[in-house]
This record gives sequence, structure tokens and C-alpha cells, in this order.
Amino acid sequence: ETYILRIGHRHDRDQRVTTHVGLTGRALGAKGMYLAADDRGVVESIKSVARRFGGDYHIEDGVQWRQCIREFQESGGTVVHLTMYGLRIQDVIGGIRAASKVLVIVGAEKVPGEIYGLADYNVGVTNQPHSEIAGLAVFLDQLYEGKELECEFPDADIRVIPCERGKNTVEL
Ligand code: SAM
Repeated sequence: ETYILRIGHRHDRDQRVTTHVGLTGRALGAKGMYLAADDRGVVESIKSVARRFGGDYHIEDGVQWRQCIREFQESGGTVVHLTMYGLRIQDVIGGIRAASKVLVIVGAEKVPGEIYGLADYNVGVTNQPHSEIAGLAVFLDQLYEGKELECEFPDADIRVIPCERGKNTVEL
């Protein structure tokens, strides 16, 4: 199972991106997101999507990142920090796949140097600068090798029926 740790979130600037990190993680098979900041707005908007679209996604703000990383490692989990400076994902994903639990750290602007030392893996999704949302999406797809696209979200209030054109939903 996979959890996300979002660090460096700034209340006024990062609400939309952090919400998208949480939603992208949920859609692509992560079990939850820990937010190393206080932001009820982000928590409530992710919770409201998760309530309507089903599944059981854990979302928690006010997390202390050092403690979160330490507890995750102490419980046998593997910590992966996504960074453009890291090892190439294609070279390390096999080893990461062998882990029973993965905590994926994504930053906002500048990530504290200490994170690079605490992480079990520093992983680059390419070594080009881009975005935490894109990095997370590609990471999860590589980790689950496409199987995350088959994820089910039980107990939804609403389900989308795929259709060629327009929008088709059912209320359950
Ligand atoms: N420049 C900042 C730094 O070096 O700490 C990072 C800024 S970037 C907009 C925000 C986050 O996107 C990073 O913390 C990282 O998690 C993710 N990211 C950006 N490019 C990446 C890449 N090529 N591979 C993996 N993650 C990446």
C-alpha cells in the first residue's frame, strides 16, 4: 500500500496543487495523503470527492513530517522522495515494488535538504524540473504497472459510466 506525504504546502499558493496531489494519489491507487501543514480547506475538498466517488481514502493535515517519516520507517515502510535530482525511476522502481508499504514524499517549492538523507530512495521521474502532480502520477503508474487503472471505489454515491461523448453518471 502507498501513502503520500505532501511537504512545503503554502496556504495561499498551493491549495489547488495540493488538492490535486491528493486526488491524483487517490485515483491512481494510493491509500491516503498526509499533509505537513494545517489546511482544513484542502482536507475537506478531498474528503468531499472521496465521499461522493467512493473508496476509503485517508487524508490528514497537521502532520509533522519528521515524525511521519520516522514512524513509517519504523513500521517497516519504504520512503521514496520524488525529486528531479534523484536516481532514474526506471532503474530503481523494481526494488521499490518489492516494498510492502511505500510513503511517497512530494515537495512544493524548496524541499529541506534533510529529506534527501532521510528517504530510502530519491527518485527522479526524468531529471527535468516539472510538477509534483505529474511526478506522482507517473511514479504510481510505474509502481503499479498500469494495474491502478482498474481500481474500484466501493460505496460511491455517484459513478461515471464511460461514454464516447458527453457525460453519463449514475447516482447510487
Ligand atoms: N525546486 C524545488 C527543489 O528542488 O526542492 C522543487 C520544485 S517542484 C515544482 C515541486 C516538486 O515536484 C518537487 O519537490 C518534487 O517532488 C516534484 N518534482 C518536480 N520535478 C520532478 C522530477 N523530475 N522527478 C520527480 N519529482 C519531481
